[in-house]
Amino acid sequence: MKIERIEIFDILCQQRQQWHPVFVRIHTDNGISGVGEAGLAYDWGHSAVANMINEIAQARIIGADPLQTELLWNKMYREGFWAFAGNAVFFAAMSAIDTALWDIKAKYFNVPLYQLLGGKVNSQLRTYASQLQFDWDSDARKLVKPIDYAKAAEKALKEGYTAVKVNPMFYDNNANTIYDLTKILTTDLMQMISARMKATRDAVGDNVDIFLECHSLLGATTAIQVGKNIAEKFNCAFMEEPVNYLNSKLHDKISQKLDIPLAAGERLFFRHGMRPYFENQTIDILQPDIGLCGGITETKKVCDYAEMYDIQVQAHVCGGPVATAVALHLETAITNFYIHEHHTYALKSWNRELCIQDYQPQNGYMQAPELPGIGIDLNDSVVMSSKVAEIKQN
Ligand code: MG
Repeated sequence: MKIERIEIFDILCQQRQQWHPVFVRIHTDNGISGVGEAGLAYDWGHSAVANMINEIAQARIIGADPLQTELLWNKMYREGFWAFAGNAVFFAAMSAIDTALWDIKAKYFNVPLYQLLGGKVNSQLRTYASQLQFDWDSDARKLVKPIDYAKAAEKALKEGYTAVKVNPMFYDNNANTIYDLTKILTTDLMQMISARMKATRDAVGDNVDIFLECHSLLGATTAIQVGKNIAEKFNCAFMEEPVNYLNSKLHDKISQKLDIPLAAGERLFFRHGMRPYFENQTIDILQPDIGLCGGITETKKVCDYAEMYDIQVQAHVCGGPVATAVALHLETAITNFYIHEHHTYALKSWNRELCIQDYQPQNGYMQAPELPGIGIDLNDSVVMSSKVAEIKQN
């Protein structure tokens, strides 16, 4: 079996122009094809990763045997110079290609992907409603008032979720995004954050898990402020991305001062990126993004590496339907699965229409698809207008 054609899609959503999932679809000479997604659907980088996939695909993937996932992963890693420097665009491109190769491999052996990763460990994946500050509905909104946080949480509970995640400091009272929370937080700001979290806790009661999302906007000192006055006070089950990843010592300080589990990992790459956090025991819940962390090949290794340190795993999922489906397979096959993330963007029609299959939770749980491969196909009637490149074997 040989790879003979590769298509790249940089999705332009007319209804949400800042949303750009990037897909790769790899075709073989025996009729099997596989899809992968790069983990850069939001903010900056989508066009760069589409071009990076194109360059790597031309250099090392076209004409190759798709079953040699380990060999091809290592070629991408060792032979392109820049992987050793560590950067999101390069790793996202590698991840998307690797994921598509695993889709092909599982279809070739006619099994769902999770069977190749060790089989079914977790048949039911408890799922949480993620990012309530954007509301929990068919349209995204910027929530400001505490009552709206309560209503969003109530909508999720009605659908059967027993866990929700919220960033109560993402928007100020004028619905402007707050990008810098590194300076000691004023009493006014703390009261705004606290009121939103209190409304959320009051709405869900004591028996529902609340995860506090921070999007790496805090500094070490303010993370401790928020950790004590919000996460600990309202009994959050974990505090996510308290600070940036550029200095792992920040996590050391925060984890020493706070009595709350810390979650992080969506902007860490490969086993190498995780290492200081694992060795220092400063991440309790690891959140690797399969579309960034090195695809299936590397993320499975990362999960097993985490298990050695008693670290639980929740795949970071904020992308198109391919990202959701592939996460379900990995989480089904690992022993240290904690919970599955269902992002509010996964509810939107402009995201769901990108693929034929539409995997949504039922009563707060999801399962891995049982179709051969990942069990997800691009919806050509939507995505073909966003195709940006096609590579064919000469
Ligand atoms: Mg996050």
